[in-house]
Amino acid sequence: MTALPSAIADARALLERLGVDPAALDGGALAARSPVTGEVLARLREHTADEAGRAIETAHQAYLAWRKVPAPRRGELVRLLGEELRAAKTDLAALVTLEAGKVTSEGLGEVQEMIDICDYATGLSRQLFGLTLATERPSHRMMETWHPLGVVGVISAFNFPVAVWSWNAALAFVCGDAVVWKPSEKTPLTALAVQALFEKARAKFGPDAPDGLSALLIGGRAVGEALVDHPKVPLVSATGSTAMGRQVGPRLAARFARALLELGGNNAAIVAPSADLDLTLRGVAFAAMGTAGQRCTTLRRLFVHDSVYDAFVPRLKAAYASVPVGDPRADGVLVGPLVDKAAFDAMQAALDQARAAGGAVTGGARVDIAGPDAFYVAPALVEMDRQADIVRHETFAPILYVMRYGDLADAIAAQNDVAQGLSSSIFTLNLREAELFVSSEGSDCGIANVNIGPSGAEIGGAFGGEKETGGGREAGSDSWKAYMRRATNTINHGTTLPLAQGVTFDV
Ligand code: NAD
Repeated sequence: MTALPSAIADARALLERLGVDPAALDGGALAARSPVTGEVLARLREHTADEAGRAIETAHQAYLAWRKVPAPRRGELVRLLGEELRAAKTDLAALVTLEAGKVTSEGLGEVQEMIDICDYATGLSRQLFGLTLATERPSHRMMETWHPLGVVGVISAFNFPVAVWSWNAALAFVCGDAVVWKPSEKTPLTALAVQALFEKARAKFGPDAPDGLSALLIGGRAVGEALVDHPKVPLVSATGSTAMGRQVGPRLAARFARALLELGGNNAAIVAPSADLDLTLRGVAFAAMGTAGQRCTTLRRLFVHDSVYDAFVPRLKAAYASVPVGDPRADGVLVGPLVDKAAFDAMQAALDQARAAGGAVTGGARVDIAGPDAFYVAPALVEMDRQADIVRHETFAPILYVMRYGDLADAIAAQNDVAQGLSSSIFTLNLREAELFVSSEGSDCGIANVNIGPSGAEIGGAFGGEKETGGGREAGSDSWKAYMRRATNTINHGTTLPLAQGVTFDV
């Protein structure tokens, strides 16, 4: 029994409205749970490796046809997908809340991000440009062209159950690729809903968008491995833990396939002496506690200058003590549940390790909101005198380690002195400090911000990080190039055959 209203009937109704066949929801071995109430919402059948292989073969056939459709026309399919997402925004967001535990505003934000990338990709479909390059040979022209790549495999994590697919898929479709998606085994229902919305868009588009252009594989690691190992998948974009990337990366390398890896983060912020502390407080609170600390970009390490530590940290502790934790469906709640018991256990183990290393822990206890099968916690703030081992480790839960610093160079060095390299921030009104932080001598992360927290990226910029975060880039800027193959073409329109580098070969 749960102390909250049951999520089952609501989830079923949402799935039906979103176009998911109710027959797919029962009788299988994969339990889809709601972290909100701990209830099992559905039991899905997992795909076998053979079925995965067949879906990939069909997707490959779809790609062979789709690559012939002009890119701006391919953009029309993605525009139609964006329209479906607009119409379904509230329902899909509510399902994200039930399946991933995000508060309502963040569930809506996640679907908005899908709409944004569809708009972006639609425009991009007319901008997949190459270059004309200077050639050393007379009467020659050299150019670079971009061609569709093939089947793109997408493996995604539970914490952005639908947006990650769209960052990849919207670009891949306009680039002329097919997409086969293996969502997290913790969030299969939102994936079924997205696939149903895609099929609605495809039906409106007409027969030029072939069957199997987008396929969904339900299951865990085994079906993910079938995608990773298939020779007809030239690119796998995998989002999840660094441990997963360590397995997936070498397997892709072994068959010379491309890997786009979006792995764990251990994001830091520096609060400098001149920081606007009101703004900093809001920035830190959202980045550290939002999504219950379950974003790859969640703020996990905070370096506060000695001169503002005693003014700032007590205010931050007060925000921690008063943040509303509870049913993510309810108005005013800012922190919903952890995804499952394993996440709760990992959080408690990390807090024990932090205490053993001398950390002073505020918060972190379990809050009984919905009975034994749902895991709600008070976010934890841990004051540390140094960056102990546990601080260098990504614990996927709301734990913020707070440390003092005296010299900015030391703070930047400490920020960079972890294995991960995803996102980072500095709060300062000092121009020199801000510019240093974003310079080549500053943050070593893929994302470096000034006066905003490390989380909450928008799709216009390339998203991803360095080191153990995997090096991949998704969404804006020139990330689309990852989904295409580049050809260099040299065309001789003269009557002689001058060779490059002055080489002669007269026969
Ligand atoms: P996870 O690594 O447990 O699972 C992610 C996905 O990988 C799942 O779909 C899972 O089934 C699949 N998988 C696991 N092992 C596999 C294997 N050997 N072969 C193929 N597929 C495999 O991650 P999670 O708990 O769902 O998500 C949390 C993690 O994801 C955190 O570390 C977080 O930082 C990271 N994350 C990173 C980004 C980013 O953009 N950098 C975004 C979101 C989440």
